Amino acid sequence: MKRFRTISNFKKRVLIVDDEDINRQILGNMLSETYDVDFACDGKEAWERLNEDGSDYSLILSDLLMPVMDGFELIEKVKADPVLKAVPIIVITSDKESEVRSIKLGAADFIKKPFGMPDVILARCERIIELYEDNTIIRSAEKDHVTGLYTRDLFFEYVRQIEVHQKTLDMDCLVFNIDHFHLVNEMYGRETGDAILKKVADTITEVMEEHASLACRTEGDSFYLYCEHQEKYEALMDRITEMVGSDQGPAKIRLRAGVYQDADLSLDPETMFDRAKLACDRIKGDYTVTVAYYNKELYQKAIYQEHLIENIDQSIEDEDFKVYFQPKYDITGDTPKLRSAEALIRWNHPELGMISPGEFIPLFESNGLIQKVDNFVWNKAASCIREWKDKYGYSVPVSVNVSRIDIFDSKLEEKLQNILKNNGITEKDLMLEITESAYSDNADSLTEVANRLRDRGFMIEMDDFGSGYSSLNMITTLPIDVLKLDMKFVRNMEKDEKSLKLVELIIGIAGFLDVPVVAEGVETESQLLKLKKMGCQVIQGYYFSRPVPASEFEEFIKKECV
Ligand code: C2E
Ligand code: CA
Ligand code: CA
Repeated sequence: MKRFRTISNFKKRVLIVDDEDINRQILGNMLSETYDVDFACDGKEAWERLNEDGSDYSLILSDLLMPVMDGFELIEKVKADPVLKAVPIIVITSDKESEVRSIKLGAADFIKKPFGMPDVILARCERIIELYEDNTIIRSAEKDHVTGLYTRDLFFEYVRQIEVHQKTLDMDCLVFNIDHFHLVNEMYGRETGDAILKKVADTITEVMEEHASLACRTEGDSFYLYCEHQEKYEALMDRITEMVGSDQGPAKIRLRAGVYQDADLSLDPETMFDRAKLACDRIKGDYTVTVAYYNKELYQKAIYQEHLIENIDQSIEDEDFKVYFQPKYDITGDTPKLRSAEALIRWNHPELGMISPGEFIPLFESNGLIQKVDNFVWNKAASCIREWKDKYGYSVPVSVNVSRIDIFDSKLEEKLQNILKNNGITEKDLMLEITESAYSDNADSLTEVANRLRDRGFMIEMDDFGSGYSSLNMITTLPIDVLKLDMKFVRNMEKDEKSLKLVELIIGIAGFLDVPVVAEGVETESQLLKLKKMGCQVIQGYYFSRPVPASEFEEFIKKECV
């Protein structure tokens, strides 16, 4: 399979196939000044040679009647091969009938035995090579210009061919990806980016030299490799990483791979590589592993997720999604007072039953579908607020979760404004929770959006504070109205002194900045008392209530009205 790597030589290469030594010598003498000439004694030897580096030949000259494998079979095999078929074949023959048959099989021309004038033979060879050069141009267009590897289409074509011809091989599919490659392009420029891609391609090719393999680059920073089965790929990845790392200049990159081993060759190549890609995607952002293997579990998870994705529209339409409300209590006074609520989505799937947001939110965040869910929740929350106001003349503000993707939607403000208008409520009724990690991802643009929303009168709550990488002093610069302490602090507060101290510190700084702190996940009275003592103003958690359906939350509102 190594034949798939094409290297262009200055002197064009010609393969002479003939079982008679004298014929090889005569033809060789005629052509060796102009071409780099190789020889084979029969079709089988020629085929083996072509399989090693066949795409480098510009011409094959072949006898027809030979032992082991004759010329006809060789022509047939060459013409059935996606790479080799571009190499012209001139047959060496002595009878008319064979000429016709070989031309029909795909031979480009024929030379009669015994050989005639050397000049004429050389001219015929040159003409045929020239004629076929068009094919070479087509072939070079099928190469990726950045890395010199094959393009995705051609790669899949070859994989298909290998499957047809070499059914007995155990093959593995690998997908390589470079973490955060877009950042390399942004920070160091396209040229550096391209040089890294080339280096990765060269390294993969070099490392795989001893193995039958085939590689291509697909979109951007993804490489596909089809190769003979290996038990493990960690050592190989280490070698690649080390080699790529050795001279990539200032940009540090990290490569990860997904492997689908012992590929089921009855699948189409795209599906086989989708499986490797699935494994590769699974370890995106995970810095502890560089290789992930596709397995049944992963397959089932993918099927399950696919199922969820397919059902989303229908579920929105059928209202299988429900919005639950969890109260937040002000604990500054003697008795806790209902202050606001958080709207949290629930999915009562028609076949799968209740699905936790932990399962579908990250999935929908990864593919953008979260916007549909969020829009649904925002509308639902707004209409509940309206309903409660109508019924009781009173409601508490409700916070909704705003995902990363929502924030960079240029229509975000318009969408929110429309929801308020349609329900006759104000910015003070609908508060917005934005998770801390969104801030650390893209602080500048997020600050800009948050500022605009605040200018319009919305209150911004920073969710899960302490879960990401923001430093404490970020609170001083970010446009936020409320800080929601990440649940893990509350959970650990009573277990270790450090967490307790940290909570104290955060509440202290927030107090100094006049930003109220909401503690989430408060389940016990002792947690509540500790937080209260530290100056935390608002509590959300099972201690007061789990998230409940709108009809149940109405009871909390009612109570406030008496
Ligand atoms: P979150 O925004 O941090 O929401 C708080 C989570 O803590 C909720 O989980 C809530 O049920 C849970 N919780 C509240 N009090 C307690 C407690 O005392 N103990 C424990 N153990 N847990 C408590 P839930 O509803 O499963 O939501 C998980 C996450 O899913 C949310 O975390 C949020 O990031 C996301 N999510 C939920 N609804 C939506 C939504 O409508 N839109 C978006 N974008 N994300 C949502
Ligand atoms: Ca939240
Ligand atoms: Ca939270």
